[in-house]
Amino acid sequence: NTDGEPIDYSALAPLQKEQQWKTQQRENATFVSLARNSEMYQLVESIRRVEDRFNRKFHYDWVFLNDEPFSDEFKALTSSIVSGTAKYGLIPKEHWGYPDYIDQKKAKASRDKMKADNIIYGESESYRHMCRFESGFFFNHPLMLDYEWYWRVEPDVHIYCDVDYDLFKYMRENNKTYGFAISIHEFVKTIPTLWDTTKKFVEENPEVIAENNLIDFVSNDGGKSYNLCHFWSNFEIANMNFWRSDTYQKYFDYLDRSGGFFYERWGDAPVHSIAASLFLPKDQIHYFDDIGYRHGVYAQCPLNADLRYKNKCHCKPEDDFTFRGYSCGKQYFAAQGLVKPQEWVDYQ
Ligand code: GDP
Ligand code: MN
Repeated sequence: NTDGEPIDYSALAPLQKEQQWKTQQRENATFVSLARNSEMYQLVESIRRVEDRFNRKFHYDWVFLNDEPFSDEFKALTSSIVSGTAKYGLIPKEHWGYPDYIDQKKAKASRDKMKADNIIYGESESYRHMCRFESGFFFNHPLMLDYEWYWRVEPDVHIYCDVDYDLFKYMRENNKTYGFAISIHEFVKTIPTLWDTTKKFVEENPEVIAENNLIDFVSNDGGKSYNLCHFWSNFEIANMNFWRSDTYQKYFDYLDRSGGFFYERWGDAPVHSIAASLFLPKDQIHYFDDIGYRHGVYAQCPLNADLRYKNKCHCKPEDDFTFRGYSCGKQYFAAQGLVKPQEWVDYQ
């Protein structure tokens, strides 16, 4: 306004009202990021992208968790970017350490062997604590107990499209429990006994299996063996009441007692995915095919051009992983009885 005309502030009112409406209608939900101080800049890049594409319209809170205290700089920088309330939590020692029944010499020997076998993160002790924490404890951290829903965000993720609707509201209104964007096969050497341990658990607790479950996503032979498919847990939108349920708690405790988080290198992604696929009816699992997303080398880019333009996506459909070799998109569509998008044949 350069010519001295007074600004008509009443014209702003509808926008403000819409904003107010959106924040008042928010779900009981939060973002959650587990991270180290050293990952601060990779994480704020993720946060900035999530804020720009989604959260600046909704202002959901953001919980940061760490096994060490966050630095003042980490707190100042991240809270300057988050548009909701940012909260910082220290993980209690019981949730990031060895249970007393774990033989730490045996755990060390397994790490040494996996290192010699060149298994990714095979030698890492902290990675195992991380996977166990994300499998069994993050949802019971005191800061998380205030919330029902979460969206997990890691350092170094990209969001490629506008998200103009409230994903949490979508989940609740459509009776969804678990949502994902990318699926992929696990390295078998990280989880050699996970499926057998799961089968033993199910034999002892047959009532945990849901009717109309998604077992065909994780098994090609009706449950005899694991096909290694899992939802990639670095992007997860889910209802924590599922992880907090007796069924899941019992399952996690059973897995934990077996020692596989330490004697092997069980990831939270296969653990979450097997639980969701067996213990939930399949219509409670949601594939966010409209979320443009990248973590590391794998990306999702909506194949439908109209959808990309409508949501102002800036990704290349050629980079979409959904129907490529190591992905589990085909298994997912088949298990859900979904029709693949017509473009898929050009992006295998
Ligand atoms: P990847 O995605 O499987 O390669 O594993 P990441 O290294 O990204 O770890 C997964 C998540 O856990 C990320 O959000 C990391 O920031 C976090 N993370 C991994 N290891 C540690 C750790 O030792 N301490 C903390 N505080 N966070 C960790
Ligand atoms: Mn990661």
